[in-house]
Amino acid sequence: MYYSKSPIYFLFFFISIANLLAQKPINVIFFIGDGTGLPQISAGNYVNDNHTAFEDFQYIGLSKTHSYDNLVTDSAASGTAMSSGMKTHNRVIGLDENKNPIPNILELCQSNGYKTALIATSTILHATPASFFAKVSSRYKYEEIAFQLTKSEVDYFMGGGKKYFTSRKDNRNLLLEDNTRTYVSSIGEFEKSSAEKIGYFTANDDPKTILEGRNPSLSKMLLATLEKVALQDSPFFIMVEGSQIDWGGHDNDIDYVLSEFKDFNESIQAALDFAKKNKNTLIVVTGDHETGGLAISGGEMENNKIKTVFSTTGHTAIMIPVFSYGPHSEEFKGIYDNTQIFHKFKKSLAFD
Ligand code: MG
Ligand code: ZN
Repeated sequence: MYYSKSPIYFLFFFISIANLLAQKPINVIFFIGDGTGLPQISAGNYVNDNHTAFEDFQYIGLSKTHSYDNLVTDSAASGTAMSSGMKTHNRVIGLDENKNPIPNILELCQSNGYKTALIATSTILHATPASFFAKVSSRYKYEEIAFQLTKSEVDYFMGGGKKYFTSRKDNRNLLLEDNTRTYVSSIGEFEKSSAEKIGYFTANDDPKTILEGRNPSLSKMLLATLEKVALQDSPFFIMVEGSQIDWGGHDNDIDYVLSEFKDFNESIQAALDFAKKNKNTLIVVTGDHETGGLAISGGEMENNKIKTVFSTTGHTAIMIPVFSYGPHSEEFKGIYDNTQIFHKFKKSLAFD
């Protein structure tokens, strides 16, 4: 009793309260390589002087990607598992197995004062980015997904798919109807705009491939977004998708896979550089599933050359690595269902 009344205890009490108050909320940069498993990462490593940005990560986990009723997931079910913590049917976005809408991590962030951003090298309505704002029974309802994006609280987005807003079956022009957001069509306009919410269309339809000269790079898009969010007092959650690694896998085209992987890897390096200066940034990198059943069957180390074989033009069910860096990165170690990624984010951000 004597000690509990000692002034020193009151001092400790006030110091610990002050520490709690001073704790900065955590920023998140979440990378999803569509169709990117260990074969794609290994291939990208061997053609890049035996190195990738992935080596700088602090913890590695493995996620089990099967969907609610299919051993082999698609990007909709896998995206929903990671964004919303529930296994659902292939092709379904933001709804559970009974088609009930479920909250996603971006929405939790928005109601906790976070700025949120989505960046993709597909259309912004494609299954992976759509899993962070849409609730639809089919991933192919692009016009409905576009409508839901305009009604969402996403602060910044970058990706293709303008035509689903402007050339619609219902003849509406969603860009004219949306008075909450400024829409731009170049990275320069994005950088110059001081609007609170900005949509940047990188293409009318699907963006070009890197091999066709896609510009800006994923790292340039991420850096422009970081510039916007870093200027504000609020913490942020950014989802970055290397969308077309998957498309290269479906095409069984290794040059397509490797060029898209390189763009993805460089954007991860840019995020790591940012997080090393801004210590309260958690980076998580994973894939939604593997595509192509890729194997590396030979090659020459010294010439950055690999010999590869694809075993399917579809997805595979192999477990997918999860790399984490920064505060709470230890949460992401181990072997778990892809749904746990949502719960691990929730726990790391103290949203319970
Ligand atoms: Mg995708
Ligand atoms: Zn795919």
